[in-house]
Formats: sequence, structure tokens, C-alpha cells
Amino acid sequence: MKSTQVNFFLSLFCKELSFHLESASARQDKIAPDELAEIISLATKEVLDLYLNGELDVHEYSSDTVNEYKDIALFSIDSYTQSNQTFEQISDNHASILKDHENSNYIDFNDISEKFVDIQSHMSQEVQRANKIIQDLHAQVKTLEITTTLDPLTKTFNRYSLQNNLTELLAKNRQIEELFILMIDIDNFKVINDKHGHIAGDKVLIFIAKLLKKALRDGDKVYRFGGEEFVVILNRTDLEGAQLVANRFLNLCRQNKPVFHNEQITVTLSIGLTQTREKDTIDELLHRADIALYRAKNNGKDQMEMEL
Ligand code: GH3
Ligand code: MG
Ligand code: MG
Repeated sequence: MKSTQVNFFLSLFCKELSFHLESASARQDKIAPDELAEIISLATKEVLDLYLNGELDVHEYSSDTVNEYKDIALFSIDSYTQSNQTFEQISDNHASILKDHENSNYIDFNDISEKFVDIQSHMSQEVQRANKIIQDLHAQVKTLEITTTLDPLTKTFNRYSLQNNLTELLAKNRQIEELFILMIDIDNFKVINDKHGHIAGDKVLIFIAKLLKKALRDGDKVYRFGGEEFVVILNRTDLEGAQLVANRFLNLCRQNKPVFHNEQITVTLSIGLTQTREKDTIDELLHRADIALYRAKNNGKDQMEMEL
């Protein structure tokens, strides 16, 4: 495995870990060390399975995020090791007290209960410390999720990243008319969910994301804007080129149907196209794309409309 793959592996591991910890802490307010160990091994297995099935797309993860996840992973492992050592020490103390009293002719109840109270207090302190660390790690992973550039389901860039990239592109001193925005919405997606189930809906989202990415030139990016809405930024092209891409999306979608449980699912798209103007703000730009999209919906869906 290359080091980028190891980093990527670790970042996914942390996500899995945080997911399992979240569901465990929703069930109970304390997590025992052996349960923590089980969760860690489960997360490892899940990510390994993904890796062995070739489902990991290493290149799309930004290295910054990977490093931050790596730090969290290393910190989790350190902290887990520390808890383990503390518990080992406590258990050694426990054993030595029992041994001390093994050969004596009488048992000093006061002495022994004092020692056990002491052990008990060490154990609960350690559990509290571990719980606090789990809480902090949770908060860190949550923050990272917001700032991560990728949408975890579709592996397209997320809305946060769209905002950042558009800010950069609009601020650049360049020929602004070269920039086109496509706002893409899956038609009747609610019906797809209702008819085939939520998992089928998720698979359709992944399918459409892959289809969009495949149809683009290298360097053009797909963003997940919301539930079943995607945005594509087309850089260094003209109106004709942008229309060509939008029509390519529509045709590819008509010709390729995702299959779920041996059943073909019919999916169509509606697309709103707009072009950047001098002094455009992000909101104005996206609003125009939205107006075009709604026109495409009102005209009967499965088509592209423009608002220039
Ligand atoms: P229209 O053609 O007008 O766009 O109709 P629509 O049904 O596509 O749009 P609507 O906004 O009515 O419904 C979108 C649905 O998408 C509702 C929501 O439950 C579903 N959805 C949003 N995010 C996800 C997701 O991540 N997975 C799945 N399976 N469904 C999602
Ligand atoms: Mg929508
Ligand atoms: Mg829709």
C-alpha cells in the first residue's frame, strides 16, 4: 500500500469509528473498554473489506483532511492504549491485594474495603477520562465532516467546497464569461425512493454522480448541492460547449439505467444553465441557475433550460 492509501485508509477508519461510537453512545452513556476494542476491530474490518473490494477512490481525498483524520486516529489509538495500561495496573493491584490476604490468618475488613474503594475510584476516573476523550474526538470528527471537501455518499465535492471554489473563481482577475454553471436535479426522485426504497435511491445518486464525472473533462468538478441536486462548474468553455455538456448529461442518463435488485430504474434529469456576469455574487449566480432549472421542470422535465 502506498502512503496516500494508508492515509486514506486511516481517514475512513476514523469515519467508521466515529459512526460506531455515535451509535454506541446513543444506546448508553458509558462505553466499556472491551466494547471499545470491539468497535475498533469492527471499524478496521469494514474499511479493510472496502479496500479489498476495490471500492476506495484514493485520489479524490484532499491530503489536508487525511492528515487531520490521521491525527485523530493516532490520538484514539494512544488514548486506547493508555486506558488499557491503566486497567492492567488496576487489575495487578487487585491481584496483589488478594495475594497479600491469601496467607494471613485473619481478614482485616476495614483495610480490604479501603483498598477496594480506592481501586473502584481509579477505575471510574479512568472510564470518565476515556468518555471525555471519546466526546472530544466526536466533536472533532463532526467539525471535520463539515470542512471535508467530499460528499461521503456520492464522492462528489460537497457544498462547502462549492462555496470555496466559486469564491476563488469569482475573485480571480480573469475573463469571467468563460465560467458556466449547471444546476442538475434528478426528476421525480421522491417517486424512485417510494417505489424502490431509500437504498435504491442512494444507489441512483451514486450512479448519477459517476455518470456526470465520466462525461466531464479532467479538471471540471461535480458538487453535490443538496439531496438530489448537483452543480457542475464548467471552466474555460463557451456557451456552445456548455450546452453540449448539458445535452451529453441528458442523453447519457436516458441511455443508461441503474439496476437495483435486477430491475432497471428509469432516471431523468432537469438542468438549469447559466453564465457568470461581471461582479456576480455566488448567490446571484446560483439563483439564475435555479431559475433556469425551474423552467426546465415546468416545461416537463428531462430537459435543459438557460438563464443567461
Ligand atoms: P422534482 O422532479 O420536482 O425534482 O421532484 P423530486 O421528487 O425529485 O423532488 P422532491 O424535492 O420532492 O424530493 C426529493 C427527495 O429526495 C426527497 C428526499 O427524501 C430525497 N432525498 C434527499 N437526499 C437523499 C439521499 O441522500 N438519499 C435518498 N435515498 N433520498 C434522498
Ligand atoms: Mg430537488
Ligand atoms: Mg428532484
